[in-house]
Amino acid sequence: MIPSNFNYIKAKSVDEAISLMGQHGDEARLLAGGHSLIPALKLRLNDYQYLIDVSRIPELRNIEEKDGMIHIGAMVTHGEIVNSDLIKEKLGIFSQAADLIGDVQVRNLGTIGGSIAHADPAADWPGVLLATDAHIHLQGKGGSRKVAAEDFFQGLYSTALEEGEMITSIGVPVHAGAKSTYVKFMQPASRFAIVGCAVVINGNGARVAFNGVSATPFRDKDVEASLDGGDSSEVAASKAAEGVSIMSDHFASEAYRKQMAKVYCKRALSSL
Ligand code: FAD
Repeated sequence: MIPSNFNYIKAKSVDEAISLMGQHGDEARLLAGGHSLIPALKLRLNDYQYLIDVSRIPELRNIEEKDGMIHIGAMVTHGEIVNSDLIKEKLGIFSQAADLIGDVQVRNLGTIGGSIAHADPAADWPGVLLATDAHIHLQGKGGSRKVAAEDFFQGLYSTALEEGEMITSIGVPVHAGAKSTYVKFMQPASRFAIVGCAVVINGNGARVAFNGVSATPFRDKDVEASLDGGDSSEVAASKAAEGVSIMSDHFASEAYRKQMAKVYCKRALSSL
């Protein structure tokens, strides 16, 4: 399908993008890699008069280490994350997750900021950001703020982003000696997660998070408590996805998804 007509504006800076959003309000939408927005426009699920392209703004495209954190600009593509030596060395779980996203074309254009703003329940980044205790930097006309990943994802395609705000970067703490992994049971055509499980174990204990299972990505505190209490991977994984509302669709029923959450949690824990 062909989308309705829209005006394309290429923003040169974050300030310009924010000012354009203020000027055009509901009629405008930010455009990053376009891998979720353009299909939605083509299907006429959304209709905007202005698309503000932020994908080439230099300040949104950096990956840097500062004060024990790695900061990933919102417009860094999944492919750039796969290829970053800094991320490979310090945040292996990010390289691993990025490499599992879609195909080469999707990884070359899709961005981490676009993905988390879209908040597709089957996307891979949300679980990884929850498990790594990441936070999201936002900027709007009122200034900038930082939101923990746990508070950012609020429901199906719903986030803490307020009108006129944009994501500028993602900050991830680096813990020397931490063990981490991301595994997923993927839909074979799109490679979106039917179940994604991210695990980080460091000096502060275990953090285990799921995406794809529920409409909102979540930390599984039962599994974390079990691991911190010294239970085996098998026992801890058997507690996965209990007491949460589980999605059911034509890819996986509720019961199957729940069982796959336990299976993939066990695989993740056993691989550490
Ligand atoms: P866009 O589509 O450009 O934007 C998405 C939304 O985010 C829009 O509403 C836009 O306004 C908003 N937005 C963009 N940037 C910002 C910003 N800086 N601040 C605030 N809002 C912003 N994802 C996975 O996780 N796993 C997969 O396996 C996977 N497989 C895929 C397979 C296919 C065939 C396709 C088409 C997509 C797949 N994706 C997958 C999604 C892909 O990873 C994209 O990252 C994702 O669609 C959105 O990122 P984008 O950069 O393309 O954002």
